Amino acid sequence: MPREMAYFQGKIVPLEEAKISVKTHAFLYGTACFEGIRGNWNEDQGVVHLFRIREHYERLRRSSKILKIGLALSDDELCDLTTKLVEQAGFTEDVYIRPIAYKSQEEIGPRLHDIEDDFLVFVMPFGNYLDPDAGIRCMTSTWRRVDDLGIPARAKVNGLYINSALAKTEAQENGFDEAIMLDDRGHVSEGSGENIFLVRDGKLITPAPSDNVLEGITHDSIIQLAKDELGIETVERSIDRSELYIADECFMTGTAAHVTAVTEVDRRAVGEGGTGPITKQLQQLYFDAIRGKNEKYAAWLTPARPKKEQAAGQRVNA
Ligand code: PMP
Repeated sequence: MPREMAYFQGKIVPLEEAKISVKTHAFLYGTACFEGIRGNWNEDQGVVHLFRIREHYERLRRSSKILKIGLALSDDELCDLTTKLVEQAGFTEDVYIRPIAYKSQEEIGPRLHDIEDDFLVFVMPFGNYLDPDAGIRCMTSTWRRVDDLGIPARAKVNGLYINSALAKTEAQENGFDEAIMLDDRGHVSEGSGENIFLVRDGKLITPAPSDNVLEGITHDSIIQLAKDELGIETVERSIDRSELYIADECFMTGTAAHVTAVTEVDRRAVGEGGTGPITKQLQQLYFDAIRGKNEKYAAWLTPARPKKEQAAGQRVNA
């Protein structure tokens, strides 16, 4: 039977054995950074394709640098270990992988220096996060995206996600699917867990990295697909709130969210109010690429072949 598993304190173990103390610094202060990686199941090939896993670990290394967390393993070791974990877990469906580099010491007092750190990663089954077929209705949040001067959004810091959670809950409790956060200059930054694109006059427009956004890997993939497959250029620049209302199309991108059309912002239909033609094409290109259906983008994928027999409860050295 497939099971959720973790690499924890140097070993691959069933998820229920991966436990931290309540005094763990990362739990007390949010002093951790993480990644979200998808593994996309291809039934015909019998393979879970891990999407751009190396780029995720490179970003984890950059986040860790900002938080003064040391990563003992190399990128190669992290990729190999994660592939092995997914194979060992044995899921023959889409999975989500959550690596976390965290301040593991049991210690009171917020700081980043002189605190022991550790790395863990776990894998679990994961379906759709948003509805990529229907698209989503968004509101601009009353919560401002935290500025680089406060907590850097380009680092995927666990504690930073309070900002996202405030915005997401406000949006959902007001009957919307997702929030669009503005930064404190009033520029559009991103969703609670997604980057944002507009389509205007056949071009893609997206906030620049300096507009307090996470430098998204799906975002980067979409820019490449738009250029190489559709000949569409992307302009990175600041976007005003009102520009959301008059865009031809709008969509969000993210590991969990994939490519999802924004059909409405603040009760104003975006374009015709459905998934626009460019969004639709990009969605198709992206889904084919992540599931191993387009050879041209095979370099983005790392295959994991799920094992039929799990080492039930048995400790396996990574
Ligand atoms: N912004 C935020 C705040 C996120 O949490 C995510 C999800 N990781 C993204 C953007 C999209 O990044 P990626 O495409 O690398 O998943």
